[in-house]
Amino acid sequence: MTVRFDLGARPHLGYTGSVVERAADLRQDPAAIATLEADGRARTFVISGEFVIARKGTPFNEPTFPLGAAGAFAPKREQVFLGRSGDAALFAVAIDPDAAEPLRSRSDLLVTDLRSLATGALVAPEHLPPLAAAKSLLGWHRRHRFCSNCGAPTRLVQAGWRRDCAACGTEHFPRTDPVVIMLAIHGERCLLGRQSRFAKGMWSCLAGFVEPGETIEDAVRRETLEEAGIVCGRVAYFASQPWPFPMSLMIGCHAQALTSELRVDRSELEDARWFARDEVAAMMLRKHPDGLTATHPFAIAHHIIRAWLESDQSFF
Ligand SMILES: [Zn+2]
Repeated sequence: MTVRFDLGARPHLGYTGSVVERAADLRQDPAAIATLEADGRARTFVISGEFVIARKGTPFNEPTFPLGAAGAFAPKREQVFLGRSGDAALFAVAIDPDAAEPLRSRSDLLVTDLRSLATGALVAPEHLPPLAAAKSLLGWHRRHRFCSNCGAPTRLVQAGWRRDCAACGTEHFPRTDPVVIMLAIHGERCLLGRQSRFAKGMWSCLAGFVEPGETIEDAVRRETLEEAGIVCGRVAYFASQPWPFPMSLMIGCHAQALTSELRVDRSELEDARWFARDEVAAMMLRKHPDGLTATHPFAIAHHIIRAWLESDQSFF
């Protein structure tokens, strides 16, 4: 396959490629978890609401701590078992969301959000996938303290991978919210949109939550129609990305646009328009004459766009 545009080395897709073995069989074995906890090699992430606590260092800051040390920052709330990393167990501990602020003043610590850690390469890359899992899972615990069936308090079981209600017996499992994110293609052009919260000049793929009763393909067609007025035909799956804000799975697709007349929903998007390949390539390379850019290489939108630019054949 010849490449139409040379965009350089392919960047890593953020939060993917975990080297942590989840060891799910151990979750239902409290004695095995207790043994791992007592092992001096056990490490833990410490998360306070949206913030990750890391020890400052070079070239990377270190976001894991000995498990026994986690309680020194602030009283522990939930603790979850993420799996095995090498010969050590890896946990994640939630401390109170208000605990992050006083830790910010410590000169030995970096207290920042997971997006900044990722885009700024502030921690070693292997930490990002389990940090994404930890943030999503602990965020779910924080928001699901009470049974959605009967309202009684629930309790953490299965080393953090379930909450049970003692009053009605319901078992609650951590949620992952599917989001479709797509690039609609019409001939030699693609459809990009802008939300008002985006950085100035940045454009990206359209996206939206999958609704109950919908296939991924249906959701791609519905969202593209709702947000931009474009009717889509064929939909092709590309790749997916965990997105821990707070607990989504981004499902990347290319879609065949059957119409081209835009009708932008201004309540969802600041703008949407068609872009030619050479213009998008300039945006990806940050060489666009008007300073327009495409999404950060860390995010799946960048990869969806790139796959279309690099392809030497029409997608549909
Ligand atoms: Zn209940």
